[in-house]
Amino acid sequence: MDTILVVNAGSSSVKFQVYSVEGEGRLRRQIKGQIDGIGSRPRLRASGANGDPIADRAYPIEAIPDVPAAMGTAGEWLRNELRIHPIAVGHRVVHGGPDYDRPVLIDHGVVARLERFVTLAPLHQPHNLAPIRSILAGFPTLPQVACFDTAFHRTHSPLADHYAIPHQLHAEGVRRYGFHGLSYEYVASALTQIAPEIAKRRVIVAHLGSGASMCAMNQGRSVESTMGFTALDGLPMGTRPGQLDPGVVLYLISEKGMSAANVQNFLYRDCGLKGLSGVSNDMRELEASVDPKAKLAIDYFVYRIGLNAGMLAAALQGLDAFVFTAGIGENSANIRARVVEQLGWLGGALDPAENSRNSRLISGSDSRIPIYVVPTDEELMIAKHTLSLLMTRPTTNPRQERVS
Ligand code: ADP
Repeated sequence: MDTILVVNAGSSSVKFQVYSVEGEGRLRRQIKGQIDGIGSRPRLRASGANGDPIADRAYPIEAIPDVPAAMGTAGEWLRNELRIHPIAVGHRVVHGGPDYDRPVLIDHGVVARLERFVTLAPLHQPHNLAPIRSILAGFPTLPQVACFDTAFHRTHSPLADHYAIPHQLHAEGVRRYGFHGLSYEYVASALTQIAPEIAKRRVIVAHLGSGASMCAMNQGRSVESTMGFTALDGLPMGTRPGQLDPGVVLYLISEKGMSAANVQNFLYRDCGLKGLSGVSNDMRELEASVDPKAKLAIDYFVYRIGLNAGMLAAALQGLDAFVFTAGIGENSANIRARVVEQLGWLGGALDPAENSRNSRLISGSDSRIPIYVVPTDEELMIAKHTLSLLMTRPTTNPRQERVS
């Protein structure tokens, strides 16, 4: 069985999925796993195609001190115990910089170029690159593909790509990149199946998970996003503030004496729903809480989604559909209902029964625009890109390059 391994490596976890390649290039998810607690309480957990657990093991801290060690452990488990020898590996890489507008086959030159973007995404890029480097060293002939969260947004016009700062900084890479691109790309392609006519028109997609952003699409291409230079901007998130006057950062430095590292930590870990509520970064806990600050955090989240919808509708000069995706967007009927209320002036109206069932189409018959719930699948998107680059690259039979 030909398989593709998809890797999504973060600072304390390596998530992986294995897809089998079936007839006509169809992909089927066989294994979903992760090693989390890297450097603290490492644990490998995995489930099979039907969701049944197939592994749950704890490791001593020194066995898996870092991301490359986690990748090594996961790889050994797949090879030695499950006899899985992937024909290629696809990686989620947060930053493709100004130039990469699509996935790319990895070689040493690509890794060197991607290293340059570490300064643009210091919390994510190094961890994304670590398993790439270790696989490149251990299995130099195994094809690897980098899929970028920024790539889908490279269709932005110069106006949407710039900040009002001197050009030199733009040339250095200080631009409005936008993120969650693999999720938006998946939703755009799913929409072509669900509603082909709508997919060609003006659509706002709200990716509402622990990280949250919104994307304005026209003809399936990104024209504007709420995220910018980093994944801090735009909507409030689990622990990130979203849009913030840069003067607040100056205040933290000059009045609170915070260092750059402290500010970074604060903005990525202590703000957003967590900071505002003082209760939790998890929407389920906020919805269950009776604390007025939890209510304020939810109100703020919904309000900012509404404000940003207006901004994106202006970028699109109208709106033909709205889509919810990711953990909150796919599962919270309450948040969706409240967001749709905010969309009333844009013609949005809800069908409460369909909404409470998490149906695909949740707008009412009186809605001027269809409103959809489309579960995202970034890993499948990566697997598809990886297979398609593997098939189109000018080289020998990929089966000859299996890891053995
Ligand atoms: P990520 O992949 O960015 O970690 P997810 O897309 O899984 O995040 O989304 C996580 C968020 O989704 C959390 O805030 C979680 O509380 C929320 N969520 C998941 N299920 C529900 C639910 N049934 N109701 C409300 N929120 C939910």
